[in-house]
Amino acid sequence: MSRGKGRKGTAKRPTKHPVVVVAGEDRNDRASLRILLEAVCPQMRGRIVEISDDVRLHKATGENLTSRIRTLARKVKARAQREKADVACVFIHEDFDRPDGAAWTAAHAKVEQELSKSLGTGHYVLAAAEMEAWLLLFPGALADTVTTWQIPERRVGRDTGRMADPKRILMTEVTGKGGRKYRESDAPEVVRNIVDNGHLSAPQGTNRSLDRFNEDARVCGEKHIGSGKG
Ligand SMILES: [Zn+2]
Repeated sequence: MSRGKGRKGTAKRPTKHPVVVVAGEDRNDRASLRILLEAVCPQMRGRIVEISDDVRLHKATGENLTSRIRTLARKVKARAQREKADVACVFIHEDFDRPDGAAWTAAHAKVEQELSKSLGTGHYVLAAAEMEAWLLLFPGALADTVTTWQIPERRVGRDTGRMADPKRILMTEVTGKGGRKYRESDAPEVVRNIVDNGHLSAPQGTNRSLDRFNEDARVCGEKHIGSGKG
């Protein structure tokens, strides 16, 4: 009956979905991760924000590791506040810069343990040896990007996590003579082709760090992103 009466006490609730934060040093790598996350976990679409951070966690130990993660956690929180949203989950990327092996297993476990202490939920994306190794699993997507790009036969069907220098392989072996050379800024387009052209489910070879990332993205979608209900 009392038309026009102002409604009091309707404090604004956040109307936005909680965000997923992708942290990492390199913007091409962050862009690539964003494309992969949205592919594996469609409910992340429109909810991913990025922070630039030099990360450097895999070599850190003890108090040094704890304080670096605390700093990261503060940045993550501040980034979400800028969006006026809560944090749903965090993906932190770093290149291992060494091939896969026992050291990778130990470093990944150590950092993830610290992440869960500081952030609650968070995923450590430790690419072995670097994210370019993931691209070497998808010859079709490389050829979709530049038709002359071809992975040498002896590199196909391998564990690309064991390759010491995947970036060099892309720049020198994949590029044909006189052809357009691979550049780091090509990575997001290659990843876009992996996703859009149906290559993601059919890698030619293995890479444990990519498997781990895919599994993390799937678990994140199921358990951390939720249905949007409080
Ligand atoms: Zn998660």
